[in-house]
Amino acid sequence: MIISQLLASGGIWLSLGGTELLLDPGPGSIVQVTKRKMRAERLDAIIVSHRHLDHSGDVNVMVEAMTQGGLRRHGRLFAPADALGPEPVMFSYLKDSIEGTVTLQEGKSYKVGEVSFTTPVKHIHRVETYGMVFRTPRHTFSYIADTRFFRGIVDHYSGELLIINTVFLEPRLPSPHDYLPVEHLSVPDAAYIIKALKPKVAILTHFGMNVWRAKPWEVAEQMTQAVGIKVIAARDGMRFDFSKLNVPDHENDES
Ligand SMILES: [Zn+2]
Repeated sequence: MIISQLLASGGIWLSLGGTELLLDPGPGSIVQVTKRKMRAERLDAIIVSHRHLDHSGDVNVMVEAMTQGGLRRHGRLFAPADALGPEPVMFSYLKDSIEGTVTLQEGKSYKVGEVSFTTPVKHIHRVETYGMVFRTPRHTFSYIADTRFFRGIVDHYSGELLIINTVFLEPRLPSPHDYLPVEHLSVPDAAYIIKALKPKVAILTHFGMNVWRAKPWEVAEQMTQAVGIKVIAARDGMRFDFSKLNVPDHENDES
């Protein structure tokens, strides 16, 4: 999907009561952000769930944007150790333009302004990968980044809102013909996880080609019916307002 750009891969912008975070800035993040007139210089941190290109491709340019071309030392980068190691996602010359890099580790908590987040469990993915549980003074929500399904996943990501990367339409078993191992969640995995975690609202995102062909909004509608929880398919540029979590379900329509 990132090669075709049928869907944008710029990541998720979290605007949380004055704390601004950018999650997984994949290729085109700078284009999407500027197109929507979002102020990258206001970002407090960039958080990378894992080093794969679709989650980190625009880290460098977004660091430049966050620091106004390196003129204003500002903000931090959070990423797993292997994204900061010998082949880092951020060029070394940018290191001094930010306030620091922070290594994400299993079971640890971090704080940015009024927001704290934890990286509760290491995912099963080709590179070191974490999802996050975010806590603001008003809300708790979770992001399940790329992973193969594992039983314990439902022990970690409760919250009022769940954002879940849903790549496959059907579970895919590893095959000798796969050049890369298939370590992603499928639509049935997402349904199982949502049902177990019972958020008020779930957002499916990060669709592979087969989910795209199946029309994500129809997949989400079917899942809403099946699990009895409001499931929304993300769209490019979609905004989700946290105040929607406080209104009764029947009024809880996306916009
Ligand atoms: Zn990945």
